[in-house]
Amino acid sequence: MQYGIISDIHANLEALEVVLGDMDRRRPDAVICLGDFVGYGPDPVTCVERLRPALAGAVAGNHDLAAVDALDIADFNPLAQAAILWTREQLTAPVRRYLTDLPQQITPNGFLAVHGSARDPVEEYILDLHTAQANFDAAPFRVCLVGHTHVPAVFVFDGEKVTAAPLLPEQPLRLQPERRYIVNVGSVGQPRDGDARAAYAWFDEDAQTVSLLRLAYPVERTQKKMEAAGLPAMLVERLAYGR
Ligand code: ZN
Repeated sequence: MQYGIISDIHANLEALEVVLGDMDRRRPDAVICLGDFVGYGPDPVTCVERLRPALAGAVAGNHDLAAVDALDIADFNPLAQAAILWTREQLTAPVRRYLTDLPQQITPNGFLAVHGSARDPVEEYILDLHTAQANFDAAPFRVCLVGHTHVPAVFVFDGEKVTAAPLLPEQPLRLQPERRYIVNVGSVGQPRDGDARAAYAWFDEDAQTVSLLRLAYPVERTQKKMEAAGLPAMLVERLAYGR
């Protein structure tokens, strides 16, 4: 099976269209979404409507749950809060229902797919070796796919210790049978690793490889829509820098 793995679209339709176009050409057997369909960006409803029919499976992100009032936004920063309040006003009843009904984790073909982490699927950020180790200890997955940080990354557990491995474009990572992996696929609609291009991952289950794909999209078009919607200027600016 060949999987397209996407995460953190954040209502960025221009980035999503470029990623979906790329997947049309590559033809994965299934597309999985790791959550945060909405929040920050100007097209929450269109992004959900566009993605839904393309997905074999999806999980809820913290912004998705906040947008449907299922998660308190007290812990969100003020800019994210402002975007969530705006997003709540835009959602249609069917989109709200879809986001509300998203599961917190799925296990397509045996690998674990969550937004944040295995032990805290919606909210935990895996940014360091210590947190990665705690998650390898908490659940028996061999491969866990995550998003949430918007930074592509790989954590490898060899049974003794956890190490970090880079996940770089055009450099497929080969999964070793005796090791366990946490793979962060980056963000389609709001990358934060200093590269403004949309990110998603390709998981070739037969070859046991994971690849990161980066695609340029018309950032200014998304920015203009955000300005017109009155979304915070800082959220508009960061898209151009991938921060
Ligand atoms: Zn996110």
